Amino acid sequence: KVKTEIIAVGSELLLGQIVNSNAQFLSKQLAELGMNVYYHTVVGDNPERLEQAIKTAQTRSNVLIFTGGLGPTKDDLTKETIAKALGRRLVTNEEALTFIEDYFKKTKRSMSENNKKQALVLENSCILRNDFGMAPGMALQYEDKFYMLLPGPPSEMKPMFTNHGREYFTTQLGFQEKIISRVLRFFGIGESQLETDLQDLIDGQSNPSIAPLASDGEVTIRLTAKHEQETVAIQLLNGLEKTIQTRVGQYFYGYDETTLVTELMKKMIDYKITLSAAESLTGGLFSEQLTSIKGTSLVLKGSLVCYTNEVKQNILKVSKETLKAHGAVSEQCAREMADNIRNLTGSDIGISFTGVAGPEPLENTPVGTVFIGISMSKKPTKVFPLNLAGDRNGIRKRTAKYGCYYIMK
Ligand code: ATP
Ligand code: MG
Repeated sequence: KVKTEIIAVGSELLLGQIVNSNAQFLSKQLAELGMNVYYHTVVGDNPERLEQAIKTAQTRSNVLIFTGGLGPTKDDLTKETIAKALGRRLVTNEEALTFIEDYFKKTKRSMSENNKKQALVLENSCILRNDFGMAPGMALQYEDKFYMLLPGPPSEMKPMFTNHGREYFTTQLGFQEKIISRVLRFFGIGESQLETDLQDLIDGQSNPSIAPLASDGEVTIRLTAKHEQETVAIQLLNGLEKTIQTRVGQYFYGYDETTLVTELMKKMIDYKITLSAAESLTGGLFSEQLTSIKGTSLVLKGSLVCYTNEVKQNILKVSKETLKAHGAVSEQCAREMADNIRNLTGSDIGISFTGVAGPEPLENTPVGTVFIGISMSKKPTKVFPLNLAGDRNGIRKRTAKYGCYYIMK
């Protein structure tokens, strides 16, 4: 099991003069690699206390990553102290020395003895090239532990880690974990309800982790599993997904980047089902969603935007009695609209949308009252009532999505 400790060296950190952003950066990077970070340690530029920090880290961690103190000045003691702790010699690295000499030649500055110190590296370590400064980084294995030394300045440390350090861990160590994510998409259930239904799983999560997110009237859950073997990570995801599906599966519609309308179209094309729509409050939004996807002509026969009662009655043939007795925003009206559009167009399914998008109530019916009718050739016509919250366009958009959702059910 990987237990990583990040040891930031520098008295400025302890004095509060700088923030330990190196540890934050490295933690994020290591999380991506699937390497667990268990400790952040900060220690001043003091060899005794640094040695103590190394000893402590050795008792509880097996990957020790140091930042800072690789420079040429007297207070830069990281590699000397590690050399002592591990009983390794420091040797001049020819490549690093040439690099430093070239740098001084190029900038026409004279090189001090101190600068030569920067070419000293731990014997038998793997050199991590510094593309933005002079001090090389190092990585090595000693007994059952791994050590990595990175410079302090973030402008040097970050590219060194991303360009060379990561690779050391992924290739040399061979204990990189695979991280696999899967997004489950839900519609027709609110975020808080979903979280309540899955509370124990969310509270007790470890591997896979569970991250719910709500947006655009939908809820997604990202499951992320880590394991050295990909097949095991997939099994972990499958196991958790199964539990989630048994609880809230009736609201599930698809994986990852898909959308409701994409899933609906796939199904309808597969089953060779045709569709037509009668849209009042959605004013064509539902059909717009469908026509944004290729292959729609196989499915959508047509749609009628029947916004006024006049059009509902004269063209869609909704009965006068229905409109008079129940109003346009009613179960009865939605039913007739769905039946009539299906018959008029000869489609397998007719769907209707009627409701109050607001901002004002209509015929004493409150804003957000919506009826969606679904008429099918061999089944009784169904009408789904909804009470949606939100502004005019929010209500209209969600109504159009509910249309997709109810057809799929
Ligand atoms: P140099 O060659 O510049 O001396 P170094 O490897 O010896 O580099 P330090 O002397 O410890 O590193 O730090 C140099 C500078 O890098 C600090 O003054 C600070 O600005 C920055 N730095 C050091 N450690 C951190 C850290 N943990 N987080 C963010 N910045 C840091
Ligand atoms: Mg320094």
